[in-house]
Amino acid sequence: MREPRIAIIGAGMSGICLGALLLRAGIRDVVLLEKNQDLGGTWRDNSYPGIACDVPSRFYQFTFALNPDWTHRYSPGAEIHAYFEKVARDTGVADRVRFGTTVVETRWTGAAWSVTTDDGVSAEYDFVVSATGILHHPRYPNIEGLDSFAGPAFHSARWDHSVDLSDKRVGLIGTGSTGVQILSALAGNVDRLLLFQRTPHWVMQLANPEFRPITRRLHRRFPAYDRFSYHAARKQIESLSPALLHPGKTRRFLTWLCRRQLNKIVDPELRAKLTPDSQPMCRRLIISPGYYDAIQDPTVELVTDRIERITPTGVVTDGVEHPVDVLVLATGFDAHAYVRPMRLVGPGGLTLEHAWADGPRAYRTVAVPGFPNFFMLMGPNSPVGNYALTAIAETQANYVLDWVQRWRRGEFTTAEPTAEATDRYYREVDAALPDTVWATGCDSWYLGQNGKPELFPWAPEQHKVMLAQPRDDEFHIVAG
Ligand code: NAP
Repeated sequence: MREPRIAIIGAGMSGICLGALLLRAGIRDVVLLEKNQDLGGTWRDNSYPGIACDVPSRFYQFTFALNPDWTHRYSPGAEIHAYFEKVARDTGVADRVRFGTTVVETRWTGAAWSVTTDDGVSAEYDFVVSATGILHHPRYPNIEGLDSFAGPAFHSARWDHSVDLSDKRVGLIGTGSTGVQILSALAGNVDRLLLFQRTPHWVMQLANPEFRPITRRLHRRFPAYDRFSYHAARKQIESLSPALLHPGKTRRFLTWLCRRQLNKIVDPELRAKLTPDSQPMCRRLIISPGYYDAIQDPTVELVTDRIERITPTGVVTDGVEHPVDVLVLATGFDAHAYVRPMRLVGPGGLTLEHAWADGPRAYRTVAVPGFPNFFMLMGPNSPVGNYALTAIAETQANYVLDWVQRWRRGEFTTAEPTAEATDRYYREVDAALPDTVWATGCDSWYLGQNGKPELFPWAPEQHKVMLAQPRDDEFHIVAG
């Protein structure tokens, strides 16, 4: 067996997943290049009050490292971060991470990838896998005067824990999944909370019960039960896929449920302000145990007038200044900056910037024509809607592992998807997209620069089938 040299860029959830699978398969020459000083990616960056995962914890985990000890149906962020750290430690991945190392360039030498990091070091690898995450680069709003604000102002993914909010007037901009979780945690716990909403989002209010000690003991005692619970939670989430993919009764049912839940808002004027004019799920459906209660808390005020500008002391809408002491920007992420700002240069000098001039595209979510032995986790058009990204990462990591194993056996030297196969795949994607709920007319981070949803237009189960094994007929393969 040949011993491949593999660089994984990023030690977040998906990088840890691939690292763990490679090490478990006995592949030792693996390094994870991580620009931060800690593992966990999004679960490290996001530590805002109220952070949790709105995908059930029984499903939001790796099948090879099930955790019987989840505390809640939707466990808090710190617990999830600790879970990924534990997986990294237990599998040996943590020992393979080079922290504080930013990849600036990955260049094909003719026989391997030369990866250059910001410390000026270059090293060669047979495979490079980008695991740089999808919701990674904070998006700051382009609002006049934002820089002039005199008090603390920070993005939700850069929370300033040194600021005590308890006696403050907090201005919160953004009502996506993050804004909703922050509002739910802060309502009643600060002096005043002004929520600036540009567009109302649909919210599904679901309870978040704590698992009782006996439940945890049973999961610990009976691994088969733990596995069953994983698949039961998976099946439950997958049963909702039809609502996303085609018009029909599941979509009608969820639409009805979302509308019905809005009736929890007592004041008709507030209810009207919170009622979206798009279809539920067109933007990512927000799951929250307590948003509709929190927003009716007497300390909360919903402001729906357009933000004109920000002054040193507040936020101005329609000529009225709303004084605030602290500004929180829950304004989302640049979800289309896959791989970048790292420079990727393939054979013949082809850059990723050039290959993606019309927007990011990937063969079956994982590879790009023109870039041999280069793979991505969570790449363009991955099924990232309301599904467990852990499951997607595992599918993609297993696919990469298949290629690596073949390389070890000497079956090839380089492999890259053909442009024809990638074009064919995108013709199928484009044909399937119009039926999806994401194409029913709303603006969100799901949409790419061409206005099309950058999502997987089939059931997540199909993604698994699609990547079950490499298809040689869709690759340029140079024999080993
Ligand atoms: P987001 O869904 O993109 O929402 C950003 C919010 O900021 C929107 O309400 C947007 O308004 C608002 N906004 C942006 N620029 C603005 C401006 N100039 N003026 C006023 N408002 C502005 O971002 P997010 O809430 O951080 O969520 C991003 C994704 O992260 C989610 O969709 C989800 O996939 C993931 N997430 C998951 C969880 C979980 O529990 N699994 C939790 C948090 C986040 P418009 O609506 O008008 O655009």
